[in-house]
Amino acid sequence: MRGAAAAADLSDPGLPPAGPRIGRPHPVAALVERITACFVPLGFDVTNLPLLATEDDNFDLLGYPPGHPTRTRLTFHPAPGVVLRTQASSGIAEVLRQAGPGPARALLVATCFRNEPPAPHSGPQFTQIDGVVAQPGLALPDLMGLFDVFVRGVFGAGCAWQLTRCDYPFVDPGFALSIACPHCGSGCATCWDRGRVEVCTGGVLRDEVLTASGYAPGRTTGLSFGCSVERLLRYLHGLHDMRELLANDPRVLEQFEGQGH
Ligand SMILES: [Zn+2]
Repeated sequence: MRGAAAAADLSDPGLPPAGPRIGRPHPVAALVERITACFVPLGFDVTNLPLLATEDDNFDLLGYPPGHPTRTRLTFHPAPGVVLRTQASSGIAEVLRQAGPGPARALLVATCFRNEPPAPHSGPQFTQIDGVVAQPGLALPDLMGLFDVFVRGVFGAGCAWQLTRCDYPFVDPGFALSIACPHCGSGCATCWDRGRVEVCTGGVLRDEVLTASGYAPGRTTGLSFGCSVERLLRYLHGLHDMRELLANDPRVLEQFEGQGH
């Protein structure tokens, strides 16, 4: 055979049959495992959160006002007072309720949903990991230590990071952690020509979040930090379309093999 016909028929009946395909963790699951493995040795309990959350835990107890655009415009409400979880932080209140007023140290893994159309860089379903710590005497250096563990675990030792102030309803002060874009020096499509990418956020929990869960005012300090797993994979691998991670196409997912995930 010649030309196109020969190219179309690449099978050789004389070859031995191919062996069974070996399964491997999905890239999202593999990165979740890698991140949780960084914090379990530090005493963090890992909890996989259910898909549904009460509106209280997802918004009210975290200080989101009634008209906040995330809860009014971007949230699925399958029943009154119930939402499809929009963020892993929605597990913070439950962790504190169960531990309060004692110490808490938990890592929360959540499949999250937002009411927005699928797009290359965002979509209706994604995975988040949040960490929460509560105990007396914590301070900002402890948060810096947790940030450092996170960056080392995901991007390797020696990866420089910096913080910018970025307050959220449930933390004050709050920070966004960025690193130099792994794919360029000054700008590329992965970092939207910024040269840096934001990989994690976190901060000191507001006292109201702690007192609502049974902690005495001012006696315990709470820290939280969190990340979006698909976004990290985008930065790690220069993914142009994060929807590929939901497609379950083995040809796409096999590309992650041997890249540390
Ligand atoms: Zn870049």
